[in-house]
Amino acid sequence: MPLIGPRRILLVEDDLNHRWVMRRILDSAFGDEIAVEEAETGERALERATRKPEIDLILLDLGLPGMGGIEVLKRIRSNPLTRGVPVVVLTSSQEREDIQTAYQHGANSFVSKSETPELMFQRLRMLPVYWLELNQLPRDLQN
Ligand code: CA
Repeated sequence: MPLIGPRRILLVEDDLNHRWVMRRILDSAFGDEIAVEEAETGERALERATRKPEIDLILLDLGLPGMGGIEVLKRIRSNPLTRGVPVVVLTSSQEREDIQTAYQHGANSFVSKSETPELMFQRLRMLPVYWLELNQLPRDLQN
């Protein structure tokens, strides 16, 4: 199913290998239909998320150096510029207890990243189809 127009995903992940794998999966599944941007810290992610062109989906790792993922999520939700952006939290098994906290602070969904590359591939392929195509984004409603 083709996505409508190019959509921007901001991948917030400090682990270079995880970023590389996720970018490869998203690029191979969606090509030019999505643009993947990367931020290796929460501070950079927040800085990017408030600039144009708008980010349509944020994939957020919780275990980040410096500002942690939960704090990043809180700031995304408290800023009117970024409040409506869907945030999918990427969790490793050590972070399961944070899921409750992340939901309380407005995470839209969770995806486990600690399993096999094949499972990761299947999950990451589904995400943009749901969040960027099936789901109505706040900015679609404004247009
Ligand atoms: Ca991490």
